[in-house]
Amino acid sequence: MKKILLIGTGGTIASEMTEGGLTPELTTEQLLSQVPAISGICDVDCIQLLNLDSTNIIPGHWQTMARCVWARYEAYDGFVITHGTDTMAYTAAALSYLIQGSPKPIVLTGAQKPIGFDSTDSKVNLMDAFRCAAEDLPGVSIVFNNRVILGTRAKKTRSKSFQAFSSINYPDLGVLRDGVLLRYIRQECKAAPVFYDRLNTQVALLKLVPGVTRGLADYLLERNDALIIESFGVGGLPEDSGLYDCVRDAMEAGKTVVLTTQVENEGSDLGVYHVGHALKNDLGVLEAYDMTCEAVVAKLMWILGQTRRREEVARLFYTPVAQDILWPAG
Ligand code: ASP
Repeated sequence: MKKILLIGTGGTIASEMTEGGLTPELTTEQLLSQVPAISGICDVDCIQLLNLDSTNIIPGHWQTMARCVWARYEAYDGFVITHGTDTMAYTAAALSYLIQGSPKPIVLTGAQKPIGFDSTDSKVNLMDAFRCAAEDLPGVSIVFNNRVILGTRAKKTRSKSFQAFSSINYPDLGVLRDGVLLRYIRQECKAAPVFYDRLNTQVALLKLVPGVTRGLADYLLERNDALIIESFGVGGLPEDSGLYDCVRDAMEAGKTVVLTTQVENEGSDLGVYHVGHALKNDLGVLEAYDMTCEAVVAKLMWILGQTRRREEVARLFYTPVAQDILWPAG
């Protein structure tokens, strides 16, 4: 039988109702005891790494999770991480950069309703996560509501219903039908994963609204090494906002600026319109193309943890990791 490590970090799945609202309280052993059929799939060891609402997860916790897997990688055939849904897509992306090319499954799951509720998605999600962790499913993925989503492509797109996650600009890796994994795509992997440990958390995100001026961008750029600007459509900056000059000044000062889009599907294409063309061609800002915003945040933290050299930042940013960017770069 395969040996799987269950790593608990909290979330709704482990929550109980308290006077102050739902709070993660159940241990990994308690979670496991709610789904006895898992013992028919694999042998399980448990670690209670954190017990947090995922709103409280910070990048340091991503490092803690990656180190936990790293330290026990040889001892297990796969890993299941239970996690709150709110920031699970960020964690899945971050783990995809911190643990690259893993031949063993690293599966994140959680739930929209606590495991103790009469109507809950916790049990099926937990069971499916173990099924996937015991299969040949390399890399980091989210298993949720019978679907398997690549870690770099996941986004929480529904706040309440069981279909909480979507795979953005990339197909699902597979589905679970009657408890059987139908794998559509097998992620490429290496013989052994490459683990990273450093992150630079000085990465900020600015969502543009019509009428925005440069003040907020100036503020964020003064305090951070990188700014992601979530602009409109295929990408650009309002011409009377002062943002173009702001971005030029920041880049001259050695900061990294990435343009992405508020539109969920199909990504950026900055050179198309006059409002974006010079940013791309004259200033040479980076653009996210088909990447999710969660992946852009995590990738920049990973890249800037290693280098601040402009060419190297650009090279790493456009080099696909776990299929995070498919658009032909450059
Ligand atoms: N607030 C919860 C969390 O992210 C929501 C959930 O798990 O579904 O931890």
